[in-house]
Amino acid sequence: MNGKQILKEMTPYKQGKQLHEVKKEFGLERIVKLASNENPFGYSNQIDKYLSAQLPSFDIYPDGYTAELRTAVANKLSVNEKQLIFGSGTDEIVQMVGRAFLYPGVNTVMPAPTFPQYKHNARIEGAEVKEVPTLNGYHNLDGMLNAVDENTNVVWLCSPNNPTGSLIPKDDFEYFMEKCPKHVLVVLDEAYYEYVEESLKSNSLDRLSSYNNLLVLRTFSKAYGLAGLRIGYGIANKALIANLDVVRGPFNTSSIAQKAALIALDDDEFILESTSRNRSVKDNFQQFLDSIGWHYYDSQTNFLLVSTPKSGDEIFQHLLENGYIVRSGDGLGCLNTVRITIGNEDDMEQLQDIIYQLHLDISKER
Ligand SMILES: *Cc1c(COP(=O)(O)O)cnc(C)c1O
Repeated sequence: MNGKQILKEMTPYKQGKQLHEVKKEFGLERIVKLASNENPFGYSNQIDKYLSAQLPSFDIYPDGYTAELRTAVANKLSVNEKQLIFGSGTDEIVQMVGRAFLYPGVNTVMPAPTFPQYKHNARIEGAEVKEVPTLNGYHNLDGMLNAVDENTNVVWLCSPNNPTGSLIPKDDFEYFMEKCPKHVLVVLDEAYYEYVEESLKSNSLDRLSSYNNLLVLRTFSKAYGLAGLRIGYGIANKALIANLDVVRGPFNTSSIAQKAALIALDDDEFILESTSRNRSVKDNFQQFLDSIGWHYYDSQTNFLLVSTPKSGDEIFQHLLENGYIVRSGDGLGCLNTVRITIGNEDDMEQLQDIIYQLHLDISKER
């Protein structure tokens, strides 16, 4: 069989361990998963309250146009309905961008480390990948501009960046858009937008009218707490969206995800409460890390990338055996780090105790 040659060099996405596997392996009663930046406070209680009364018909295909949710998102963001595209998570929109814009002979520019799906999809499409190392977790925007050439079709900006957590400041984003050649599609992934401090929040949507080459990505998976339902969206000018819409599968978001997202979108209070709780738990955790001298990267998200005195894999293993699943940075391109999702108050307090003991043990070894 003659499939794409590159697939032989690649591996499928390796997901973190599932909760029941870890419980069984280490004989643990309780496991806290702080590995995928889900919302530890769940999701809007309006969803449980209203969804059962509004359950869609499961035997009928979903509305491929996502009309009801589309209208609600358009109103909320003050954009035209035709400026939106929905996906089975923003993951799927990343895939659509690859399918529509990347092919052998062109290249794509991205920071490193960043969200791995940009590179994964680019390689599948046969495009050359140009990675520009981040500086202290921040995008090196001048370095990225230098990497752009006449064969560059897509640049990926991830703000705040996963796994470092760092935000591209508004002025720097503006500078980048002004300098970046207009033949290049700039994808601005704002998966953690809701977590960003109000005064620092991007004005990316206001800039869509000035920049025809800008696509902004947002998701219901993180602050909205709906990771299991798979729904996210992209915002751009109508022509760009029309282009992407050609590669979109006809029924790519489920009717139940559309319905739940619609209810979630209306509950600003839930977003406000979980983002402010996140901020105060994160502040406490940062103070704790300061007290034991562990460095971490600036984060405007619900996770922290923490530098560790041993390899990320070793710290990961130790925390795992104590009932906490985090992400080792070793596999994310950041040696000697772990990425920890900020959990709820009690879980993070217990995690601090475990890390404190570990810190004492490591100090004794030295
Ligand atoms: C989690 C995440 C996504 C994917 O979110 P889904 O909408 O669940 O597919 C996209 N980009 C970044 C940076 C993320 O961290």
